[in-house]
Amino acid sequence: MTMRAQAEIDLGAITHNIRTISARTSAKVLAVVKADAYGHGLIPVAQAALDGGAHYLGVALLEEAISLRTSGITAPIIAWLTPPGSDFQKALSHDIELSVPSADIFREILAAAKESEVKPRIHIEVDTGMSRGGFLEDWNVFLSELAEHQNEVEASGFWSHFARADEPGEVANARQLSDFEHKLAQLQDLGIHPTYVHFANSAATLTNSDAQKDIVRVGIAMYGLSPDITTLGEVSQWGLQPAMTLKAILHLVKHVPAGSAVGYGGTAVLDHDTKLGVVAMGYADGISRRTSSSAAVTINGERAHIIGRVSMDQFVVDLGISSNAKAGDMVTIFGHQASSADEWAQAAGTINYEIVTRIGPRVPRIYLH
Ligand SMILES: *Cc1c(COP(=O)(O)O)cnc(C)c1O
Repeated sequence: MTMRAQAEIDLGAITHNIRTISARTSAKVLAVVKADAYGHGLIPVAQAALDGGAHYLGVALLEEAISLRTSGITAPIIAWLTPPGSDFQKALSHDIELSVPSADIFREILAAAKESEVKPRIHIEVDTGMSRGGFLEDWNVFLSELAEHQNEVEASGFWSHFARADEPGEVANARQLSDFEHKLAQLQDLGIHPTYVHFANSAATLTNSDAQKDIVRVGIAMYGLSPDITTLGEVSQWGLQPAMTLKAILHLVKHVPAGSAVGYGGTAVLDHDTKLGVVAMGYADGISRRTSSSAAVTINGERAHIIGRVSMDQFVVDLGISSNAKAGDMVTIFGHQASSADEWAQAAGTINYEIVTRIGPRVPRIYLH
């Protein structure tokens, strides 16, 4: 049975990319599998990353961490977005390591530890200039509370996150690193020596060896996509391979005369007789409506551009009058031997991260080994 649409995930590419990144650094690799592994599928990708030698898994949400555990994965897992009121007891009972970005959350984790009699493994997160996660003005308050309770927790990590790692040489990166070292020294002055210091995301891992520390947290590069195509270029320069190919079926093919308007709003009017193809995928599946009349797909090796507005479940492409494409043919939207996720990102005015993470839940993920 042919499927209407599918995202083919090359798990061999995930494993290869982890191995390739590991070969570039002496740090351990933490595979970032938040957001359903950037839309690629949480459990199969986590397993492929571990097969490639990843030591840690990283997620944003506690629910994501628990899904990994209930699937039987025993590797260390960090969850770094656990707001106040999260079920920290449940996190501890599943052996999930927790990020501590505020004194409030630290207190909740301590309280949960008392109830469950498990020593929490924490990763202390400092804000070094991004003004997003981590300790900033409450850092000194936290340091004194931590000193008081240091026997109740295990300091597994000390970490921060770059705002501009995709701009190597940018002075903000050096400033963040020096603030990080300063705060680490303050922690060490209290006699607290975290097991793992970590800072680098994909961009820093690929371009800044000073940032690699004990663990690198690799997301987009593991999926074979560039952290920033304009500043860093294609990932093929590092030997990385894109893991996702997005496909949909050609639902209809028809001759349409010059002068016809295509799609909602009649925004595109044909200036030539042509064959149009209706592709069975739309914005509900993650095809941004902003790609209307711009991005290109590939059918039987030939490119065809979107014409008119993208609808909820379908969009129309101009196949050209001499096309041999027929209903039932497979259309490659991006990936292997087609446009890249970056070309779709450019057409949609966004970044490749958003293209892959927005592929909707009604698109089945098919795993190639
Ligand atoms: C998402 C995320 C990463 C991975 O970033 P990439 O640019 O995809 O490598 C690393 N660390 C944290 C804290 C993140 O939230």
